[in-house]
Amino acid sequence: MKKTADVAILGGGILGVSTAFFLARHKPIRIVLFERDGLAQATTGLSVGGIRQQFSHPSNILLSQNTLAFFEFFQKEYGIPLCFHKVGYLFLAQKEDTWRDFLSSVQTQKRYNVPVEALLPDEIQRRWPYLNVADLRGGTFCPEDGYADPYEVTMAMAKIARQKGVNIFEQTEVTGVLVDKGKVSGVQTSRGDISVPIVINAAGPWSGNIGRMAGLHYPVFPYRRQVFVTKAFQEVAKPIPLILDFDSLFYFREEGPAILMGKSDPEEPSSFNVNVDRGFMETVIEAACHRAPILGSAKIAKSWGGLYTITPDENPIIGADPNIEGFYNAIGFSGHGFQHGPAVGQVLSDLIVHGSTAFDLTPFSSERFTKGPLHGEKRVV
Ligand SMILES: Cc1cc2nc3c(=O)[nH]c(=O)nc-3n(C[C@H](O)[C@H](O)[C@H](O)COP(=O)(O)OP(=O)(O)OC[C@H]3O[C@@H](n4cnc5c(N)ncnc54)[C@H](O)[C@@H]3O)c2cc1C
Repeated sequence: MKKTADVAILGGGILGVSTAFFLARHKPIRIVLFERDGLAQATTGLSVGGIRQQFSHPSNILLSQNTLAFFEFFQKEYGIPLCFHKVGYLFLAQKEDTWRDFLSSVQTQKRYNVPVEALLPDEIQRRWPYLNVADLRGGTFCPEDGYADPYEVTMAMAKIARQKGVNIFEQTEVTGVLVDKGKVSGVQTSRGDISVPIVINAAGPWSGNIGRMAGLHYPVFPYRRQVFVTKAFQEVAKPIPLILDFDSLFYFREEGPAILMGKSDPEEPSSFNVNVDRGFMETVIEAACHRAPILGSAKIAKSWGGLYTITPDENPIIGADPNIEGFYNAIGFSGHGFQHGPAVGQVLSDLIVHGSTAFDLTPFSSERFTKGPLHGEKRVV
């Protein structure tokens, strides 16, 4: 392994790979990426792949829009399809408060030119007759939202990053971050040590560990999320948007000939547990049968668990740590790190190379948790 580099990226999910991709455009930076497993095998490969502009926080709307623009650019520039399925996202509100909140978000989204519609239950019923709308106040729909395959996107970006000279070391665990007189000086790995003045913490649910290696403590906590996919089930008219029943935290979308569904459990404690809980599967099926009774005859074929990395305000931590020169973060992305990964990689690479970025990172600074106030993201399932 090389003994020196200019930048070391710790973690080979979408955040690490995307940052490597964008940094690699700035030759002659020597970039190394360390991944203890294979690329995109952890959270990124387990993601549902949703991409939406329907956020409450303006910065999150902008990040999604930047990622969508990047997808177009990438496909044209490199001729590799990223297969974005533009099926739309439908958010459903049951409670009056939720509906009011949705309508307030719609105002924000429209200021950013998101073509979002606020729909009353009758209209929802007309467009998606398989939904039970009896207990709904309304919903919001954006036809430009959809989903893509996070593994494919990450591997496509990694392929180009490698071509541009990034040294990606898989099966290589980072065991220490060396700091000398308040500055990053190196990284210890299972393959040996490397001298490097800049590290990027992109270790997803394990980013708290990487922080602690440098004596830094971030409020990032792992929480299990479970996903269930049915056997082929063609009874629901396509295209099926990604449908989010916000008050029950249940969602579903099409997955080839099948249906993919999931639900967050508000009682879930923070842990690294990714086992599937059969009892919880029943709760998910119940939520499915309530919102789309037709799903009652679908059979579950496979399931998995993955980890959200959650901060107290459900927004990520992006940028330079003020306490250690050369230590950068792209961590704490909750349920939207796949869609924000490409945009964040670009912002972070600009910050590292130019020392500043046009994108306002204030809402994502690590200092907000001590300085406050917190204005986080409300649309998280
Ligand atoms: C079930 C589920 C559904 C989701 N759905 C969506 C969605 O619809 N849309 C969306 O945008 N997001 C979604 N997300 C969130 C999204 O998947 C994550 O925010 C995103 O993948 C995080 O990427 P990452 O690169 O930060 O982390 P990861 O993909 O976890 O990558 C971090 C990497 O760091 C490596 N690592 C850790 N420690 C070390 C070490 N010491 N040395 C070397 N390597 C190390 C790990 O092996 C891992 O590969 C979902 C997540 C889950 C779990």
